[in-house]
Amino acid sequence: AKELEHINVVIIGHVDHGKSTMVGRLLYEAGEIPEHIIEKYRKEAQEKGKATFEFAWVMDKLKEERERGITIDVAHRKFKTNKYEITIIDAPGHRDFIKNMITGASQADAAVLVVDVVDCVQAQTKEHVFLSRTLGINQIIVLINKMDRVDYKQEEYDKCKEAVSKILKMVGFKVDEIPFIPTSAYNGDNILKKSERTTWYNGPTVFEALDALKPPEKLVDKPLRIPIQDVYSISGVGTVPVGRVESGILKVGDKVIFNPAGVTGEVKSIEMHHESIPQAEPGDNIGFNVRGVSKNDVRRGDVAGHPDNPPTVVRDFTAQIVVLQHPTAITVGYTPVVHAHTAQVACQFVELQKKLDPRTGQAKEENPQFLKTGDAAIVKLQPTRPMVIEKVKDIPPLGRFAVRDMGMTVAAGMVLDVTPRG
Ligand code: GDP
Repeated sequence: AKELEHINVVIIGHVDHGKSTMVGRLLYEAGEIPEHIIEKYRKEAQEKGKATFEFAWVMDKLKEERERGITIDVAHRKFKTNKYEITIIDAPGHRDFIKNMITGASQADAAVLVVDVVDCVQAQTKEHVFLSRTLGINQIIVLINKMDRVDYKQEEYDKCKEAVSKILKMVGFKVDEIPFIPTSAYNGDNILKKSERTTWYNGPTVFEALDALKPPEKLVDKPLRIPIQDVYSISGVGTVPVGRVESGILKVGDKVIFNPAGVTGEVKSIEMHHESIPQAEPGDNIGFNVRGVSKNDVRRGDVAGHPDNPPTVVRDFTAQIVVLQHPTAITVGYTPVVHAHTAQVACQFVELQKKLDPRTGQAKEENPQFLKTGDAAIVKLQPTRPMVIEKVKDIPPLGRFAVRDMGMTVAAGMVLDVTPRG
């Protein structure tokens, strides 16, 4: 079998516009819902005298069974197109969605925006679009959904397309390059095959649009970064830091530097799944034996890199944040804990530069006095001790962070700029 390239796609859109139904439809068309389950429902549908076997029936049954606690193996939410193996990132709760997107718990390469043709642009439509854009997702596919509700009329589609285009333009998307597709998740129009109900439409199907996405930029070509999770001292071997390669390539024989510790050593061996390997790539969880470094020199939160392009130790950094939940307000001087890669460092808010409109990303207020739940803002943070963090546009996985305090995630953010420590 051909090796398919992997891509993560986030499904966004206002509540009730049909996101989960669309996910079900995509899995169904891709053959990911087990045949025996479909067979069972087809029989039930016949017994109940339903003339045609409808997809909505399958979706309802799946939902019912999920609610009764019966697990069905559609949970992995992966499916294949001709070109890609696609992992779907769902946005169940609005707040979880924002947190996951920003902290990179789910790094999306593209977004699929689902819009109900009748209700069209709503609050979360705007907010998700803005967030996707600011999180660096620059590929989007727009599904004007529930076309069955308007008898597949082109004028209804055009009206909604126009409204969605407006908000996409507002946040800087190039609308001419974005596919807009009239769909019905219920009836399966223009998902895998072109629909006969929309003869006026001659653009791609959803599967074709997914295949036309550009593959994600490879972190292999970026500088080496391995955030350290743990450090072991193994007798007869030596010091073995453990971590996941986030970017770049590590080879046996390489010189490495650990920052902010500032110590250097030479890689004698690399191990993954108890096997010795000559080199490690992004995504690999490895232990690597380093000569010239003792266990006490390196700790969790340090980042390994090559000495000619070392991990950036910062004096302060400028970030875009979204306040997810704070019982009162964030002001200058507030010092919660920033969680970035494997580091946890108390950082002080030293400047509140701008408050942003959460729907458009435009500046709403310069130098605000405080930030409350729901606010998006540009701020400057100063770590209370040396810390490695990178600009999100340089090395995305090292440029996102969560702000925690009082046992909860107060805010999530990404680094726009850094002042390296002199
Ligand atoms: P979500 O909140 O965005 O995930 O929306 P759901 O997938 O739960 O769908 C919300 C409602 O719209 C449900 O009652 C669905 O059955 C219905 N729905 C979803 N897709 C379609 C569609 O293509 N046509 C019609 N008429 N209804 C749909």
